[in-house]
Amino acid sequence: MRRLDVKAFAEEGAELAGRDSLGAHFRLMSETGGRAPESVVDWSARGELRNPHHVHPEVWLHLQAQAALSLVCQRCLAPVEVPVRVDRSFRFVSDEETAAALDDQSEEDLLALSAAFDLGELIEDELLMELPVAPRHEVCPVPVVLAVADPEFEATEPSNPFELLRKLKTGK
Ligand SMILES: [Zn+2]
Repeated sequence: MRRLDVKAFAEEGAELAGRDSLGAHFRLMSETGGRAPESVVDWSARGELRNPHHVHPEVWLHLQAQAALSLVCQRCLAPVEVPVRVDRSFRFVSDEETAAALDDQSEEDLLALSAAFDLGELIEDELLMELPVAPRHEVCPVPVVLAVADPEFEATEPSNPFELLRKLKTGK
């Protein structure tokens, strides 16, 4: 938990940075299947007040985060380390309704100011959103099983389903 008063943070133009262990991020850990809890999540956040002399100055939070996550390669099913990066800015508006109302017409990423705002949770949300749908090795490590496969078995394996069907029918 890392509660942050975003408005005050922006007014001060404050900055925060940290390095968490992946193990502290429960939802990211469930993506890695519990692997490498000691790997790190690096992050930094900066507050900014835009138009400070305006009646309603804009409250901004700039977030950067990065981690290397051990995911499962969708081709060979072995673990693959995937670097994930977030570099995003959020404008905070007074409440959820305003955020929802402005969301359609705005290119900006809008969030509602909330006393319960948790920076750690936002970092985790954003990293989760950057996860690839189908993580893969660029080049999969050659599975050892291929090297010791029985060549006779390979040779007798029917090469197509029709062949297999014919063999079944004729009993050969
Ligand atoms: Zn792979």
